[in-house]
Amino acid sequence: MTSALLPTYARAPIAFERGEGAWLVARGGERYLDFGAGIAVNALGHAHPHLVEALTTQAQKLWHTSNLFEIPDGERLGRRLVDATFADVAFFANSGAEANEAAIKMARKYHAAGGHPERFRIITFEGAFHGRTLATIAAGGQAKYIEGFGPKVDGFDQVPTGDFAALEAAIGPETAALMIEPIQGEGGVRVIPHGDLRRLRALCDQHGILLVMDEVQTGVGRTGKLFAHEWSGITPDIMSAAKGIGGGFPLGVCLATAEAARGMTAGTHGTTFGGNPLAMAVGNAVLDVVLADGFLDHVLAMGLSLKQRLAAVLDRHPDVIAEIRGEGLMLGLKLNVLNAEFAAAARDAHLLVIPAGDNVVRLLPPLIVTEADVAEAARRLEATASRLETRLRGAAE
Ligand SMILES: *Cc1c(COP(=O)(O)O)cnc(C)c1O
Repeated sequence: MTSALLPTYARAPIAFERGEGAWLVARGGERYLDFGAGIAVNALGHAHPHLVEALTTQAQKLWHTSNLFEIPDGERLGRRLVDATFADVAFFANSGAEANEAAIKMARKYHAAGGHPERFRIITFEGAFHGRTLATIAAGGQAKYIEGFGPKVDGFDQVPTGDFAALEAAIGPETAALMIEPIQGEGGVRVIPHGDLRRLRALCDQHGILLVMDEVQTGVGRTGKLFAHEWSGITPDIMSAAKGIGGGFPLGVCLATAEAARGMTAGTHGTTFGGNPLAMAVGNAVLDVVLADGFLDHVLAMGLSLKQRLAAVLDRHPDVIAEIRGEGLMLGLKLNVLNAEFAAAARDAHLLVIPAGDNVVRLLPPLIVTEADVAEAARRLEATASRLETRLRGAAE
């Protein structure tokens, strides 16, 4: 039978019924090691007892009231995020793209409120991904997402990463902000060097423009810091986060300094669902775990262990794997075989990984993975690489 769903996804032919930690169980009972975590979303794995408890307790009390009323758990989550970051204020949304829409609007409004409405353009970087709304596809700049959807939203200028001459040439009297992922996720786990982030901060200060960090994928502990920009020692003016922040509950946030948010007064922006009591209960529960002593150390230790094991697999299979990239538990394998083929072969070995741009597959395990999970993933990647290598040899003969 044909599907009643819009065919915008090429789905793998598996449906999962339940999950536990880093493992997913398919309808037929087969177990898969989940090193995709629903695209970096299931930060605490599947069915984490603390999240299940928070969600079910809240579900019996109150789901939604709208932002016409005070939401104490939202005040609390906002305060905790502000206390843990550079930010002074938080705006809750339901997704990464929405968090970025808030960030883009805020950056424009900042200049309008300062008497410069002509400063609305935002510089973004080649290989970027910022979401699928009309503004965020324009920000991402990828033709395959923009074509056919009418005039591209105006106000986004794109330059290559690491090309400071091009960047300085692109900054003009209409520039409002730079927007960047500290590690490009969809673009292929391309790490922006920490020195480059520091140079971007300095350029923003020099030109009076805002630095917007898209930490939708890199945030909430993924790289071993609460947010990836912390590795570089600089802070943004505005930052979006989503994916891991709800641990699987749809939640996004736009965080900002009071200065950057100066234009966002009552009535200037809004959302019906964003920050509702159910989402806030889960968001607070995720933070309980991620902010607990030793959690980020665990992410770093597991990231290091995984990276070392991957290096050994690369050493044995250079015909299949070209390079290992990333930080913490956001790792990428740049491949010498097709990434979709690699991901399918890994799936046959009951390991889930996620293709990205630049012929990379991403390893984005839940942050709660154990050493045993990491060792098992490495064994399955070894088996996957061996199988693909045998296939390559067969094709060459
Ligand atoms: C996934 C992602 C988005 C979009 O998030 P959605 O929740 O799909 O709207 C934006 N930016 C980055 C860096 C992402 O990885």
